[in-house]
Amino acid sequence: MDFEPVIGLEVHVELATQSKMFCSCSTAFGAPPNTQVCPVCLGLPGVLPVTNRQAINLAIKAALAFGCKISSSSRFARKSYFYPDLPKNYQISQYEEPLATEGSLEIASGEIGLRRIHLEEDAGKLIHAERNGDFSLIDFNRAGIPLMEIVTQPALRSPEDAVEFLQKLRQVLRYLEISDCSMEEGSLRCDANVSVRKIGEQILGTKVEVKNLNSFRSVRKALTFEIDRQTRLLLEGKEIFQETRLWNENRAVTETMRGKEEAHDYRYFPEPDLRPLMLTQEDVDRVRSELVELPEVRKKRFIAEYHLSSYEATVLTAEKEVADYFETATKLYPQPKILANWIMGELAALVREEKLDIGNQPVTPSFLAELAKMVENGIITRLAGKDVLRECLKTGRSPATIVSEAELAQVADRGSLEPIVLEVITENKKAWNDFQHGTEKALGFLMGQVMRKTKGRANPKLVEQLIREHRHGKQEN
Ligand code: ADP
Ligand code: MG
Ligand code: ZN
Repeated sequence: MDFEPVIGLEVHVELATQSKMFCSCSTAFGAPPNTQVCPVCLGLPGVLPVTNRQAINLAIKAALAFGCKISSSSRFARKSYFYPDLPKNYQISQYEEPLATEGSLEIASGEIGLRRIHLEEDAGKLIHAERNGDFSLIDFNRAGIPLMEIVTQPALRSPEDAVEFLQKLRQVLRYLEISDCSMEEGSLRCDANVSVRKIGEQILGTKVEVKNLNSFRSVRKALTFEIDRQTRLLLEGKEIFQETRLWNENRAVTETMRGKEEAHDYRYFPEPDLRPLMLTQEDVDRVRSELVELPEVRKKRFIAEYHLSSYEATVLTAEKEVADYFETATKLYPQPKILANWIMGELAALVREEKLDIGNQPVTPSFLAELAKMVENGIITRLAGKDVLRECLKTGRSPATIVSEAELAQVADRGSLEPIVLEVITENKKAWNDFQHGTEKALGFLMGQVMRKTKGRANPKLVEQLIREHRHGKQEN
């Protein structure tokens, strides 16, 4: 009997606002515990929430990007539960009337439908002491940070699709500066719902919700484990118990956390301290005018406009800042293929090595264009070009300045190269002899020697030509 998995995701995204959802406390990550708090986000008696307009605009932006239906009137609701990280004992969320519904996101295997996008507030963070026994600490800096929840249809069919969906979602949200979507810092979090059913079966199987997924890798591993566990139970004729399970990263298993709570356990009711959230067409259109070209569209345009391969276009549009960098450089030096090579190769490696962001480092698009042009015009060799790039990144000086000061300009005249070639021939009798007797491999070695003597500045084409001329010369004699 063959089974297939069915997966639906609930993704929580911390919105990139300066202040919290219902108060003016800062949302900056990494501050000392409990320094970004006030009576509102601590849930002290008598306080009133005020909605953060920017958070609403960011959620509208996401809804537009995924083609959702945006509600002209949505409502905040209280979701009651008792947990130490939730000082009010309820979370302000949205329930029956979410900000947006429907919409979709495309992955390789097809369109993945979205059920809803709604706004809510984050809870505090519990820190469980690992030393000196049994206590936990609470940091309320996170309490009240604006959260957007995106819920998919049960439309994903494999752990790989789930990860691809999350990566695509993250890419779009980063392009639109809705969130930095850092799984390490917790600004992108995902709960995965998974069930298994017989292939051909119409109704869905009993689902299990898996929490504590802190990386794309753990999403894939936890889903794979869980699909396997459920399939095995079904094969043994056993029943799946609807529950919430936790992914245990160390043991690489999911473990029972609690039985599934039902909506009525949360006693949802409309938030009495906030009016319904009314949005006019103008409100939505204003946000629409701030949308930027999305990664999928930009990728296709890169292929059509710059004749890049699909692979190059994918890499260059993965992050908006890389795509922007590439396009700025291309305007200054219209050689997209050549620039793509530099950006994806040498520059990417250097930036990674120095732990910098491509959009915020000394090699500006105009410096890269200048450098690429010098190499293509034969002013410096490709090898020297790599050194110049490194120097430019370290010092912020322009490639032209570096080249003229370091005398890196390419040696490309016969007069200077001829004596060096002769020197190499006399110093490397064996290789020269091999080359004369037809061993082409020896040519590379001889050229390398010329490059060494000229510190990489010799024009490789001319060197090769000179060496070949000598062979002919010798043979004719
Ligand atoms: P709940 O009411 O338990 O929160 P929802 O119907 O709101 O469940 O769905 C939550 C998430 O679980 C959604 O992403 C949805 O696509 C997914 N889901 C629902 N039923 C199933 C199922 N049988 N198998 C897998 N995923 C499911
Ligand atoms: Mg739900
Ligand atoms: Zn506050």
